[in-house]
Amino acid sequence: MSRSAHPAGPRHADVLPEGHYTAPPADLNVLDPKVWSRTVTRDAQGALTVGGIEVARLAEEFGTPAYFMDEADFRARCRAWREAFGTEADVFYAGKAFLSRAVVKWLYEEGLNLDVCSGGELATALSAGMPAERIAFHGNNKSEAEIERAVEAGVGRIVLDSFQEIVRVAHIAQRLGKVQPVLIRVTVGVEAHTHEFIATAHEDQKFGIALAGGQAAEAVRRALKLDGLELLGIHSHIGSQIFDMAGFEVSARRVVQLLAAIRDEHGVELPEIDLGGGLGIAYTSEDDPREPHEIAKALSEIVTRECESARLRSPRISVEPGRAIVGPTAFTLYRVGTVKHLEGLRTYVSVDGGMSDNIRTALYDAEYSVALVSRSSTAEPMLSRVVGKHCESGDIVVKDAFLPADLAPGDLIAVPATGAYCRSMASNYNHALRPPVVAVNDGEARVIIRRETEEDLLALDVG
Ligand SMILES: *Cc1c(COP(=O)(O)O)cnc(C)c1O
Repeated sequence: MSRSAHPAGPRHADVLPEGHYTAPPADLNVLDPKVWSRTVTRDAQGALTVGGIEVARLAEEFGTPAYFMDEADFRARCRAWREAFGTEADVFYAGKAFLSRAVVKWLYEEGLNLDVCSGGELATALSAGMPAERIAFHGNNKSEAEIERAVEAGVGRIVLDSFQEIVRVAHIAQRLGKVQPVLIRVTVGVEAHTHEFIATAHEDQKFGIALAGGQAAEAVRRALKLDGLELLGIHSHIGSQIFDMAGFEVSARRVVQLLAAIRDEHGVELPEIDLGGGLGIAYTSEDDPREPHEIAKALSEIVTRECESARLRSPRISVEPGRAIVGPTAFTLYRVGTVKHLEGLRTYVSVDGGMSDNIRTALYDAEYSVALVSRSSTAEPMLSRVVGKHCESGDIVVKDAFLPADLAPGDLIAVPATGAYCRSMASNYNHALRPPVVAVNDGEARVIIRRETEEDLLALDVG
């Protein structure tokens, strides 16, 4: 990504620090629809509204920090994925991005399936009424208890991740008198992140069974022999925040080649392939994500072409978007506590949350946008670093972004595209109380995960 270290126009223009930012937008009040959910807009007074409700009212009613989720946007994204893939493919929402019972209900109503990767996620899915056959269970080290519960519940598929697990799931299924549908997760030697992918030597990771060296073929051999298992197909997941379809192309080709090898060796054509998730979203105006219909078209063309050349019947395709569905649907609302100008360095804007509600910046060097949302401003742009209130200098929410120079304590600022991997990775560091998630829709706001309280913290601390 090309970034200018010396954009024109900002405050302290002569002393701008090195950083990852482009020139400030012409008008800081304009909300880029790429990074904000679809019902977000500014009202006549310049304040941000979502689902028809003004943020100041939301802050008053629910406090800050808080995540506000645009239900209409969530449902529209589910429908876009569902319609793009049609009846020939299955869309599994990756619950680890963000899971709550309300979300499970929306997914169910919009016709999506659900991936879970722990007993806790499975319990949430089942308690919200997701039919077990629409659930897939992932993970590289599922416990016996988790497997037992999943098999007993009748989950639609368990994704096997190791040789030990093949045997473990088969034994448990047999003991329970069941035949468990399974996929085998393979490591195809592709790793993709954002604009790059690497197509060799990425077997060095904890997930999956390597295609290289015949490991995956051996796993298939073993799974086909075990009575407790019904092997449906092969699974591959290559990375996260991917914009370039080339990684999927290599992955699909290698998976289809494995299906052909299985047909040649065992005389069976496995009916399914799952190409995983990892599709990118716009965190800043620099990102250009693909639409679900483009992704669906690209994947189905790749699979059709590879199957034709291997003379295989096209298998049923599954995909597993997490971030691409929930990421853009929510923003985090913070209240500004202090604004500290370090002359010749940068301006630090401290908010009432931080790495406990968004660890991604500290963990992955993630980039985010930010906007003043309780009012509009015509003040000049001020290069800012938005930081949290934790006892850690790496407690950064937004590394480099422009806010208006008249920003003051008490203002509300919002960070968009925090629907994925923020609440689900939230912690109690410094005994922070994890923020609520509030669903906003058509003039109504409703808590779907309530704010933690000091009583919640103390209830776990048994003294
Ligand atoms: C994390 C994960 C996903 C979802 O990834 P996103 O980047 O949120 O789309 C899908 N499948 C598997 C197996 C995963 O581990």
